[in-house]
Amino acid sequence: MVNRLIKAIQAESEFEACVRCGEPTDVRRDTPVDMRMHYVEGAGQSCPECYGKAYPENRKRREKTELTMYFGEMGISLDVSLN
Ligand SMILES: [Zn+2]
Repeated sequence: MVNRLIKAIQAESEFEACVRCGEPTDVRRDTPVDMRMHYVEGAGQSCPECYGKAYPENRKRREKTELTMYFGEMGISLDVSLN
């Protein structure tokens, strides 16, 4: 009984807690920062809910546009080198 409880606590501690609300997230502590979802630079790991509050929809959309442009540029440079 006690062993099971300790195991449960250890399993939970493998995951990062949200820096804002303290709720455990589904991100493991050994996950590299740039592989993490909902990681806030300078603050730490946050849960999807708090991340949504920290990053309003318009900011997420802007980041997505930048990413699309970035890959678009890569595609263009690839076409040039093939020609
Ligand atoms: Zn949170």
